[in-house]
Amino acid sequence: MSRNTGLVLLADQALHDTGAHPENGRRIPSVLDRLQRSDDWGRLQIFEAREAAVEDISRAHSAGEIEVVRSSAAMGPTWIDGDTPVSQASYHVALKAAGGAMEAVDAVMSGKTGSPDSLFALIRPPGHHATRERAMGFCLFNNAAVAARYAAEQYGLERVAVLDWDVHHGNGTQDILWSDPRALFISMHQWPLYPGTGWLDEVGAGEGEGFTVNLPMPPSSGDREHLEAMEQVVEPVLEAYDPQLLIVSAGQDAHAADQLANQMITTTGYNRLAKMTADFAARNGIGMVALHEGGYNLDTLPLLDHAILSGFGDFETDLTDPYAPEGSADNGWPERLEEIKRAQKAYWRL
Ligand code: ZN
Repeated sequence: MSRNTGLVLLADQALHDTGAHPENGRRIPSVLDRLQRSDDWGRLQIFEAREAAVEDISRAHSAGEIEVVRSSAAMGPTWIDGDTPVSQASYHVALKAAGGAMEAVDAVMSGKTGSPDSLFALIRPPGHHATRERAMGFCLFNNAAVAARYAAEQYGLERVAVLDWDVHHGNGTQDILWSDPRALFISMHQWPLYPGTGWLDEVGAGEGEGFTVNLPMPPSSGDREHLEAMEQVVEPVLEAYDPQLLIVSAGQDAHAADQLANQMITTTGYNRLAKMTADFAARNGIGMVALHEGGYNLDTLPLLDHAILSGFGDFETDLTDPYAPEGSADNGWPERLEEIKRAQKAYWRL
């Protein structure tokens, strides 16, 4: 049975002008071009990002962080750090990216007949590396954390889950939600890799201890490894936490042909990840919001985002992957999976 899904679009995204940087204004149009030519386009509900207020951003970031983004952009084009360029419009585009995440939350929480079960916000700049105090790693404001805090405040939610499948660890989201039991943060990421965090012993602190769950995946992990991680760790933890909203930090840079990492997920793998999360949300009667994070190969990103939407909406889509790797590597995954489970057994029944 098909499910209601769609997109949140950010018309001004290219005004966050990063030139020839891997995270650039051509990424989202490449995805939209494919979607608009497909049979699935007519099934998608389309929403437009609104600009978040500074008050909304302040639920996740310090005043100092917000001011660095604002004043750097005003001086743009310049760089906030060695990875993170900004242009004159970047502050406003970043406010809209966070506001796009909030728009998606409102749409899936509305409860109106025909409202979307899930939405995929095709926003940039991405957010998951931005910590409370620091814009970094292509990220200005942490869209996932802003959305989680907004959902808690606006709808009185006590449990929001954030699942981050970007190939890089979502250090910023982890940092902001670290001691917050009203938010569960789960990250599957290549380890070791930028930004260097996300090891097993990072589990949150204080009231939030146990509500940060890290799955450091060995290099050359593909569909099998990620789907086993989902089935044996992510799904049981999500079921036990019983979230009232699921936010996905959807980065497609764990694909075999992505140039920024070494993982080997295929189109089918991303479709399965998306379907598993949508099935979980449907089983539990909750809304789901996916936020675009990484994914830098313009030849494959459109295919991967389409595969994800297909999983959300349960569409029949051709998932042929011209870049699919053959076989699977002996990368120590079975042992790592046991290590992950051992680390989490103090908090979850696995
Ligand atoms: Zn990434």
